[in-house]
Parts: sequence; structure tokens; C-alpha cells
Amino acid sequence: MVSRVIPVDPFDLVIFGGTGDLARRKILPGLFRRYCAGQMPPEARIIGAARADIDDAAYREMVRDAINEFSDEGSVDADKLTSFIADLSYVAIDARGETGWRQLVTHMRRGVVRAFYFSVAPSLFGDLAERLNNHGLTDNNSRIVVEKPFGRDLASARQLNQDLAAFFDESQIYRIDHYLGKETVQNLMAVRFGNMLFEPLWNSQFVDHIQITVAETVGVGGRGEYYDKSGAMRDMVQNHLMQLLCLIAMEPPARFDPDAVRDEKLKVIRALEPVEPHHIIRGQYDADPTDPVENPSYREGAENPSSKTESFIAMKTHIANWRWAGTPFYLRTGKRLSARSSEISVMFKDTPHSIFGEEAGRHRNVLSIRLQPNEGMQLGVTIKEPGPGGMRLIDVPLDMSFADALGPDGGENVDAYERLIMDVIRGNQTLFMRGDEVEAAWTWTDPIIEGWTKRGDVPKPYDSHSAGPDASTQLMRRDGREWREVTP
Ligand code: NAP
Repeated sequence: MVSRVIPVDPFDLVIFGGTGDLARRKILPGLFRRYCAGQMPPEARIIGAARADIDDAAYREMVRDAINEFSDEGSVDADKLTSFIADLSYVAIDARGETGWRQLVTHMRRGVVRAFYFSVAPSLFGDLAERLNNHGLTDNNSRIVVEKPFGRDLASARQLNQDLAAFFDESQIYRIDHYLGKETVQNLMAVRFGNMLFEPLWNSQFVDHIQITVAETVGVGGRGEYYDKSGAMRDMVQNHLMQLLCLIAMEPPARFDPDAVRDEKLKVIRALEPVEPHHIIRGQYDADPTDPVENPSYREGAENPSSKTESFIAMKTHIANWRWAGTPFYLRTGKRLSARSSEISVMFKDTPHSIFGEEAGRHRNVLSIRLQPNEGMQLGVTIKEPGPGGMRLIDVPLDMSFADALGPDGGENVDAYERLIMDVIRGNQTLFMRGDEVEAAWTWTDPIIEGWTKRGDVPKPYDSHSAGPDASTQLMRRDGREWREVTP
């Protein structure tokens, strides 16, 4: 299968923080892949911007090194890379001062899309927005892209929204949640709303419960100090897991357009019930006894011996609406777990009556949607165990790995960042969070975090490379359920 690549319109893209980790690791390699795929028109311009006093030539070499370092081994065509970086330029600029802004103005063209990627600390978002406005760079063709974290609570998210809204219309603001850029996440909408098969069953009458797991094997690594101020709730649940929850639970939008989709997601967040304290388990990983130097405990990694920040969360929540009343949603995410795996599982109810008798056992359909690794879907169905000897039932997967089903081209690995940046240029906000969505998510999250602080809650320790604290298993078992095994 040959994938269709439609070139985007000419654009000027300024990457503030163009020398930083995110730019080098994700944004620039992603742009290079879109360049190689023929999606970037020859008139496209990319301008790196940061305070470092370097010239265009030095910036191009930095980008060459970054793309070589952060691209898949053997995937970089050296000639294409040379022609890609030849068009890059760099402006030394200070978000908080006047240095560089006039020079930036001279780089920008009129009549093309102007995208400004704020790949800098959120504390600089307001400064950048204000200076872009003061220097006349905010015309109808301008849009800004902002990175997570979008606030650390409702008050700070509101403030950020206000700082940006002072100079940009909501239709110009693209808040990135890179989970929404993943192929399978969009496929979730295609499967739900493009097939007759699933939607009639997609409610509490037929669905027993839903599990969403985002498991990582790595610890906090070099990000310990940053992560310790955040924790799994702010870093993963408030944004990524809630976005997945919205897509799985929302009503069918009237159209596949940005506001129709985001209106439906917002309704889900607003319908989330407050979480009971005993329905949420926090954990913190211990050192791996087999290799405590490479895999130290969370507290050592965070350099905070008394840290109460969680590296693991498991919780049960409900959505108070007609579709989902009585169907629990179990969310789980953590670091240093046994496997790297992101998966959403829709666990259907048992058949109302088994004609095969007790000995056939309990069987249940499961639709699991795998985000990483090996993006794909699997539908567990019950069949007769082959062979003689009566009617015994077994569960087998109807497997659909996208790479297998669609072939090497159709299974093209378009990274979330590539897709999202191209959506920014195309002006499509469907896969970006709206300001009211972010605020609603914090409105639900804040009381949970405040409750921990008030109660002096301490996360439960768990073994490195395990399934998390035992209390997480018990959270399910109390309800007569089990987490799906975390498998690579
Ligand atoms: P980083 O490595 O610290 O880079 C920060 C960038 O901002 C550098 O290019 C820095 O260059 C520039 N900068 C700092 N102060 C500036 C100023 N006053 N004016 C202009 N430029 C300035 O940070 P990062 O990891 O790339 O993260 C950038 C943003 O993305 C953050 O909001 C982060 O939370 C978010 N994010 C990062 C990742 C990731 O994987 N790294 C993932 C998700 C979200 P100079 O010092 O030379 O100015």
C-alpha cells in the first residue's frame, strides 16, 4: 500500500528553544522526515531561535548532529540532510529582552503561514506572546504551538490561557499533547465512528469496564529534579491518560472537525466523578537490587530522600452520564515497570447465559488498542478448542498489527510530532487541546492532589520492573477484576 503525502502550504516556522532537548530530539528530526517524505514545499523556512550567540552555520551543524543522533539507525540520507539544513537559519533572541527581535522580523515573510513553536519553559510563554505581538508578528496567518506542561494546577493553567489569549485567538493556539498525534489514537476514532460493529456495544450495557495503561520501564533518569515537582498525576494522568479516556468515552461528534471533537471531549471531562481517596493508589519505585547503580530508587534519582512524589498511579473513576453509568474506568501509569506498553482495553461483559455449561468457563471479548510498542488492535474472541473431546472453549486474538496489515508503506512510522507539526501548518486543531479542556482537566485533578497534601499521603514503595504496588492489584481484585498483564 502506498501512502499519500500531500504537501502543505509554504510556511515560516520559528522554533523558540531551537537548540534545546525537545527541538533536537523530536521537532527537528520530525521535520526532516517530513522533508524526506516530500511534504514540505520548497518555499518552507525553518528558523531556530534561542539566546545562544551562534551563527547560521553553527546552528546547521548542530541540527545535522541532532538528526543523526536521534533518527533511527541507518535511516538518514546524508545528501537529503545536507539540503535540508542548507535552508535553516538561526536568530539569537531573548524571550525576556529586546535582543534579536528586529532581526527575526526581517526573516519573516508576509502571505505565508507563520508558526511559532514555544519549545521553551512555560514561564516564557507569556513573554514570547507579548513580544510577537509588539513586533507585529501576529497576523491572521500566525499560530503558536505550546508544549506541556500546560500549568501545574487550575490557577496556573488559567493564567497561561489568559497570557496567550491577550495576544492570540483560541483558533491560533495549538496546545500539544503528543499522545493525540499517535496513529492508533486517531484509529480509535476511526474504529469507533467508521464501523457499525462497535458503537452499538459501546456503553455500560455491554462493557464491563475499561482499562487504560501507560507503562514505562525507565525511571526518572536525568529528569529527577523536574519530575519530583510534578509526579505521575501531573506528568501523565492530567493530560495523556485523560485525553485517551476522552476519546474512548466521548459521544460521536456530529462532524470530524476540531470544535465538534473537542466539545465532546470536554463533556466527558466535565462528567468525571470525583475520585474516592481509596480508589487511587500512588507508588514510588525502589532501587533494582540487581543493579542499584544503573537503576537507583526514585528518591535517589530525584535527589530528595523524603520525596512524597508518585512515580506510579492506579485509579478507578466513573463517568456520570447515560452511556457510562456503572462502568468503571481503571487508569494506570508508572515508571520502572516490567514492560514498556501503552494500551487501552475495552472489556466486554460475559454472555448473559452460557449454553455450554459450567465447564466451558467464563469467556469475555476484549478489544485492546495498543499505542506502543507495535501499534495495533486485537479483538479477543471465543472459539471452540480444536480437536475431539467435546465442546471446550478458548479465547483467541483476532490480531491486527498495522505494520503487518498495511505493509511497509502503509505502516510508515510517522512520529506524533511530525503529524502534529504538519497539522499546525494545515491549521487543523482537532488533535490539540483547547483551553477549556485543559482547565476542566485541572478542575478534576486539583482536589485529588490537594487531598494528598492535606492527608500527608505517602506513596507505596514498589519493586523496580514489577507491575507496581500490590495495592494496585488489590484495587482491581476488590472488584473481582484483574489488570491485563503489562507485556512488551
Ligand atoms: P531545554 O533543553 O532546557 O531547552 C530550552 C531551550 O530554550 C533552549 O534552546 C534554550 O536556549 C532556550 N531558552 C531558554 N531561555 C530562553 C530565553 N530567555 N529566550 C529564548 N530562548 C530561551 O528544554 P526542553 O527539554 O527542550 O523543553 C522545552 C519545552 O518542552 C519545555 O516546556 C518542556 O517542558 C517541554 N517538553 C520537553 C520534552 C522533552 O522531551 N525534552 C517533552 C515534552 C515537553 P538558550 O539557553 O541558549 O536560550
